[in-house]
Amino acid sequence: MKNSSLKIGNIVVKPGEKVTLALPMPEIYTCAPIYIPIHVIQGKKAGPTLLICGSMHGDEVNGIAITQKLLKLSLLKSIKGTLIVIPTINIYGMMTLSRNLPDRRDIESSFPGSETGSFASRLAHLLTKEIFDQITHCIDLHTGEPHISKFSQIKTSLQSKDAEKLALDFQAPVIVHTDSEEGLLWLMKDRSIPTIIFETGQALRLDQSGVKIGVQGIIRVMRNLEMLPISPKKPKIRAPIKVDSRLWVRSSSSGLSEIFPKIGSFVTKDSVVATISDPFGSEKKEIVKAPFSGIIISVNNLPILNEGEPIVEIAEEKEHAVKTMHEWIKDKKDDVIQ
Ligand SMILES: [Zn+2]
Repeated sequence: MKNSSLKIGNIVVKPGEKVTLALPMPEIYTCAPIYIPIHVIQGKKAGPTLLICGSMHGDEVNGIAITQKLLKLSLLKSIKGTLIVIPTINIYGMMTLSRNLPDRRDIESSFPGSETGSFASRLAHLLTKEIFDQITHCIDLHTGEPHISKFSQIKTSLQSKDAEKLALDFQAPVIVHTDSEEGLLWLMKDRSIPTIIFETGQALRLDQSGVKIGVQGIIRVMRNLEMLPISPKKPKIRAPIKVDSRLWVRSSSSGLSEIFPKIGSFVTKDSVVATISDPFGSEKKEIVKAPFSGIIISVNNLPILNEGEPIVEIAEEKEHAVKTMHEWIKDKKDDVIQ
């Protein structure tokens, strides 16, 4: 069946066309116009409309690198359906190296937005009307906040079987279940659009290994949605570890932290994950132990801590995760797009 045309703003993209367009953001007080670049690749044949979006938080660069590498792939010439790629949604945040918009609000929690609301709400409304109301599937690319590294992971609601399938097809090593009933995930749930959030690395830093996982994951999802032909090579199937319980282990005293397990490693209950020492020379040390067995999915790289600040985030998992993680790390060396 022939694909139909897609209209974003005043631009109509016809079947078989590849277009880069610029969507104007709400105005800022300097009167300097700011545009969001959007790439649309329209297949000749009908299929899903998949959105890949990066940098909702303007200081997160891994999504930009993932979309750059994705758009260079020649295999996108043969897609069925429509691929919409927005490397950076929060252009203002990218310019100022900040997470939020000029009104200090977070676009991610502003959906579906309102035409007469705050700056963030107006942008959310524009994106909902022009983009999100036209798509069938979504992959939203993120990193941790500044100083917080994220192990490559998918976040989604596993209550949606379609979203779970996207998450499994993506094959990031870990899938974290979230019940979030706000922001983008709420919008997509309301519209029955399967959506997954891919997180890797930290804000303001490039994580090349996470970028590879992101590009490979998107290609695998597109193959499984039949937007791309099946891989000519026999694809490796890895079973991601699904977790629904996670906890940030926090410092109970202030000081200088030393963290022992690497991100992505498995820790057992009561093993020492960090020590917090007095930065001014006293011998006193706090020993921080894992409250349960699991995988280190986030690490705070800033070693100077006030009490209550996060140290590591552990996703609860039983022993069988060890084998799966070893297999995944072994396979990770293979960076060929399959
Ligand atoms: Zn983010």
